[in-house]
Parts: sequence; structure tokens; C-alpha cells
Amino acid sequence: MSFTLRGVGVSGGIAIGHAHLVSHVTLEVAHYAVPQSEIENEVARLDSAFNMVRAELDSLHASVSGPAAAEYGAFLDLHRMILDDSTLSVAAKTYVTQNQCNAEWAVTQQMNVLLEQFEQIEDDYLRERKTDVVQVVERVLKALLGHPGYVPPPVKHDGDSILVAHDLSPADVIQYKRHRFTAFLTDLGGLTSHTAIVARSLNIPSIVALHHARQLIRDNDLLIVDGSQGVVIINPDKHVLSEYRSRQSQLELEKRKLKRIKTTAATTLDGCSVDLFANIELPQDIEQVKESGATGIGLFRSEFLFLNRDDLPTEDEQFEAYRTVARKMQGLPVTIRTFDLGADKNLDSAKRVAVNPALGLRAIRLSLAEPQMFHTQLRAILRASRHGQIRILVPMLSCVSEIDQTLRLIENAKQSLREEKITFDEKIQVGGMIEIPAAALSLDIFMRKLDFLSIGTNDLIQYTLAIDRTDDSVAHMYDPLHPAVLRLVAHVIRSASRAKVPVAVCGEMAGDISFTRLLLGFGLRQFSMHPAQLLRVKQEVLRSNVPVVTPLTHKILKADDPVKIHQLLKKLND
Ligand code: PEP
Ligand code: MG
Repeated sequence: MSFTLRGVGVSGGIAIGHAHLVSHVTLEVAHYAVPQSEIENEVARLDSAFNMVRAELDSLHASVSGPAAAEYGAFLDLHRMILDDSTLSVAAKTYVTQNQCNAEWAVTQQMNVLLEQFEQIEDDYLRERKTDVVQVVERVLKALLGHPGYVPPPVKHDGDSILVAHDLSPADVIQYKRHRFTAFLTDLGGLTSHTAIVARSLNIPSIVALHHARQLIRDNDLLIVDGSQGVVIINPDKHVLSEYRSRQSQLELEKRKLKRIKTTAATTLDGCSVDLFANIELPQDIEQVKESGATGIGLFRSEFLFLNRDDLPTEDEQFEAYRTVARKMQGLPVTIRTFDLGADKNLDSAKRVAVNPALGLRAIRLSLAEPQMFHTQLRAILRASRHGQIRILVPMLSCVSEIDQTLRLIENAKQSLREEKITFDEKIQVGGMIEIPAAALSLDIFMRKLDFLSIGTNDLIQYTLAIDRTDDSVAHMYDPLHPAVLRLVAHVIRSASRAKVPVAVCGEMAGDISFTRLLLGFGLRQFSMHPAQLLRVKQEVLRSNVPVVTPLTHKILKADDPVKIHQLLKKLND
């Protein structure tokens, strides 16, 4: 039977392919009584789940190769040891028999026992391995619940698989960079959640906030994903299918045509020159940056170097990553944002304890609370600064004391390198992200102390409107055109331009062509976005005339009625 689901399209385009369901099993499992006559079967179910996971781990072990093989192998050995620990594998069976309950419940109870044992361990490293215990139990639960597999799962329909998940963390999505899915669908998530941003960077259609996709779509169903409209059609009939196939070819054609302007300078009709920079998460994204014709990196989300691993990246490892990017950009600006960890990008998923993580110890707050970790990163960035035009960008600054502390720590890192006679760019520029209303409203102090600014509209909108950007239940309220947001963005661009402090927008607004003219009219001349969006934005810049659009943008700024604002924006873009 054919049916349609609607969600929030976070990355445009059309994909046609087969559903590949993955589950991120939460540990909230059901608890129910099992009759005496079924106990033997329940124990056998448990045995077979453990065997399945053993086989999974063994086959993973056999498949690892490349530079990370040793490290990954050790990680798999550890998981195998945890799996075979008698507290889990043997005691869970005893638990089922003694308590006459289901296997899932028994495993989670024994997991708690094992976690408590880990808690008592004095060795920090071993104590930290609690996350691995949870991950192993997740695998066992997946096997018990009838969908074994690991993340990332094997792709069955090579080249046409569409990933369907209840939720994905940014760390999950980044792993999928290596897999060739043609689209992403999730039940949860908001338009500018980091998960959506990473999915967008993969340059494939993605839809979030579908609510029940994971329940309603079955493995292998044929799907049409229309990322621009936020629509999924499940098991379409042949007429619908052929209609979408022709739309898909049309889009492909347009994409190919856009490549023609790759080397064209981004200049408006009236001769205003605009910088179009790229946002990246990992050094390997540079290939896509090169293809987009970006003239710099406006945002390197360095925290992605810290995800999907058990330890912290060393100074040398970070240095290599930053140097690679700097070298490959051949003297063009490379803006490295210091790690923006916390909130939805956690080092340790077991540590997600903050009641309100987006307002908690995130970004620069975490860096200042972990000065050693910050020092390591700063040294790595400074060392790499010799190999290109690197700039440091500091996320989520809210007050002058944070700026002062940060500048002091940068100076300390510089001094430590001087003492070791390691050269670096002494004049390296330090900028701040404007993503908290407090920063936008006290801009003078930011402009006095920093070399450049970059407006993070994703967070600026989240914090101005008090909308959690990761929460799909309020996703519909996330509004870049809210008068308060527009006024803050315009204020920052104007004030910085007047003071001759370079200012960019690096949030998702910069890559959305419906806002290109608006931002040009506000005075913006530096945009940073995912490379996949860059050529379309360039096309929009080439077609815009600043003196013509500016008066209309003033009108939009004065308007306070959402309907009027939308009408004016439409007029601006026509
Ligand atoms: C932003 O907040 O707009 C931004 C660019 O940073 P991030 O999306 O990584 O929070
Ligand atoms: Mg941000």
C-alpha cells in the first residue's frame, strides 16, 4: 500500500531507493513476567542473542583495516571481554530463571550490577569504560529485539539505500559519511540540529521530525524522498515513480549547469564583491570544498575530531588535521572554531546529565572549565598556523570575562610554543561567534577585543526564541524571520561594518538562498555555508543588485507582522 509521510526537509533534492532501518535502542526496555514453562526458551533466546553479538564483533574484527585498525581492534577486544563477563553472560540467565522475567529486563539489571562494579574501580581509565558496557548491552538488546546489527549497518542495496532511524546523534551521522546512503530520514530532530547540519553536509536529501517513520516504514520498502518538500512517499505507484524520476533528472541537470559558475567571482550586478566560504566538519570535507569553488573555510567545526572515539585527540593528531586543511586551502583563509562540545555533541554519551544542556557547560564554557584540553587544541592550531592562513574562532562567547580569559589562554599557548622555539603565526587573528543575544546586544566590547565576528544564526535563533534546535516538538516555531532575529542579525552586520570589523554569517541562514538578498541588503559580504549550498548561493549573488534590494530589506526590518514579512521577502526574491 502506498502512503505519504511529512516532516521537516533539512536537505533538498530527490532520492529514490529502498528503506534501510537502523535502530538506536534506548535502554528503557519492557519488564514482564515469563511463565515457568517458557523460562527455558527465554534463556535460549538470551544465549542466541549473546552468540549473535559475538559473531558480529568477530566479523567486525576481521573486517577492520587501515591506519585505525589497531585501535579499533583493541576497542572490539574490550567489547568482547565485556560481553563474556560472567556478570552479564551467565548471571543474566540466572536472573531470568530466578525472577521469571524477560531476557531484556535481566540483561539491563545485570548491566546495572556491572556498572556499579566499574564505579568502584580506582583506575580512571577502567572506570570510564562504563560507556562500553552500555554499548555492548545495546548490541545484545538489539539482537534480542530482532534487529541485530551495529552502527553503521551493512548496506544491502548498494547505492540506493535510504537510512531510516528514530534518531541519530551528530556522531552517528558523521560515521555515515563513509557509507553511500542516498537519503536520511529520522523521526526526531529540528531544522538546525547538528544532526541535520551534518546530514546536509553529505549533500543528500534528508528529512527529520517524521515522528513515526521508524514504525511505519518497513525494511526494504521502496521510498521516494523529496527533501525540499519534506515528503516521503512509501511504495509509490508507477505513475508517481516516473513523475519523480523525471524531476530527479531535472534537478541533476540543474546541478551540472551550476558547476559552470564554480570559478566565477561572486560579485553582485552592481559590482559588490562577496566572500563565499565553506563550513566543514572533518579534513576530508576539503575535497567537496574544492569542488564548490569556495574561497576559504569560514567554519571548521573542530569538535567533530573529538567524536566517535574513546580518547581525546592528541596535540599532534589535531595539528595534522589542521595543517592538512591549511595546506589544501593553499593560503586561503581557514577559520578553525575551537571545540564546541557539550549540548548535543558529547564526548561521552553516558555523561549527558545536564538538565538543560544547550544552556549548560557547552563550547567556550567547557573549554574554560577544561583548560588543559583547550591548551592542547590551541597549541595544535597555533602550530598549524605556519602552514596557511589560519584564524581562531571562539564559539558561544557571552561576556567580556570569557573573552579576556580566552585571550589569556591563547597567549599562554603562544608563550609555551615560544619557549620551545616552535614557530607560529604571531599575528593569528582571533574572532568570536555571535550566537547569544547577550553578545549581539553588547557588541562594542566584542568588536574592541576581537579581530573578526561570525554570526551563528542557528544558535542565535535558538537562544533568542528559546527554541531547542534539537527538539522536533518545537521545530515549527524555529523562525529565522522572527522580527527579533532579523533585528539582531542586521544590528550585528551593520555595527561591525561601520566599525570596519569583518563579519560573516556561518549559520544555516547563510546557505539558504531565500535569505541571500536579505543578508546582502543588511550589508553582509561574507557568507559561510556547507559546500553543497555554495553554488546556488553564488548564483543568487550574481543575480542580485544591492542598491535595489537594500530599501526592501529596510522595510522588512521595520515590519512586525509575520505575514507582511513573508510577503516582502517574496517580493525581494522575485
Ligand atoms: C550556529 O550556531 O549558527 C553555528 C554556525 O554553529 P553550530 O551550528 O555548530 O552551533
Ligand atoms: Mg552555534
